[in-house]
Amino acid sequence: AKKSGRHTVRRFNKELKDALLNKLALIKDLRHAICNDEFHLVYQPILNKQGIVTKFEALIRWRHPLKGSIPPDQFIPFAEESGDIVEIGAWVIQEAKRALQQVRAVYGDDIQISVNVSPVQLSNHHGKTRELLSGLLAPSDDETRKNGLVVEITEHTLMSLDDETRKTLLGFREKGIEVALDDFGTGYSSLAYIMNYDIDYLKIDKSFVQKLDDEVSSVSLCEAIISMAHKLDMAVIAEGVETEAQLNLLLEYGCDYLQGFYFSKPITLEQVLVYQQDKDRL
Ligand code: C2E
Ligand code: CA
Ligand code: CA
Ligand code: CA
Repeated sequence: AKKSGRHTVRRFNKELKDALLNKLALIKDLRHAICNDEFHLVYQPILNKQGIVTKFEALIRWRHPLKGSIPPDQFIPFAEESGDIVEIGAWVIQEAKRALQQVRAVYGDDIQISVNVSPVQLSNHHGKTRELLSGLLAPSDDETRKNGLVVEITEHTLMSLDDETRKTLLGFREKGIEVALDDFGTGYSSLAYIMNYDIDYLKIDKSFVQKLDDEVSSVSLCEAIISMAHKLDMAVIAEGVETEAQLNLLLEYGCDYLQGFYFSKPITLEQVLVYQQDKDRL
């Protein structure tokens, strides 16, 4: 028993070492990924209750020259740790703004693109981030109009904000940028806390949406989130909708927006521009 125990420890150490080496290699490669043009954005449609696409969520993809496609979950946390997320995040915002101009030409001026923003981008570089996010409207344009971008921050991020950053978030709205609270339901934030911020959308985390088919507790949770959000003048986006049963329950409870593989996987900008406004999607 002792022998196999030692063996297990050694194997565990090897796994830890491999994971660490992999992480260091990725962080090193991340540094060159922007200038090497290895990132691109894909866009997932978000539909309203009528089945009309009103927004697209921009999601980053990394085509590594040797390792192939690496999903964001496997490099964003490292980029946040190393600080590279600031540069990557700035690239994401600029790329999304450029896409928005093209998307507007096809879908009209009310279409929006939402971008995921990391806590690091908000805390140390809030000035830069705000500057990047604004300036989409021409100076002559109506200042109160939406500028077309929605910022998605996670519930965890919101809870970690300091006073200064909180002001940045409020400043977003003055620039016509809307704010969505991502992964809602996973962070146990209190209602009183959320009410301190002017949040436009709650995004119900996909883990709850996916349990809608078979877990009663998830059904009541989604129902409660939707009615609570509406009382606080917020709209609700359900992410990760995969089945018709999930869709029907969400519609029954009055969910405002829907996103998930049931409608479409994330697609390229080229696909977005030809993705027709099919009113029969529900
Ligand atoms: P997220 O913001 O919660 O994004 C939703 C994720 O769920 C995306 O994964 C999307 O492809 C996936 N998804 C959408 N519909 C369905 C569905 O019906 N079923 C299932 N199983 N999954 C669905 P993705 O693109 O791999 O992104 C993972 C996470 O990486 C994102 O979670 C976000 O936290 C982060 N991320 C992605 N792009 C960026 C970015 O540009 N900046 C930052 N800071 N984070 C990003
Ligand atoms: Ca998101
Ligand atoms: Ca999410
Ligand atoms: Ca509001």
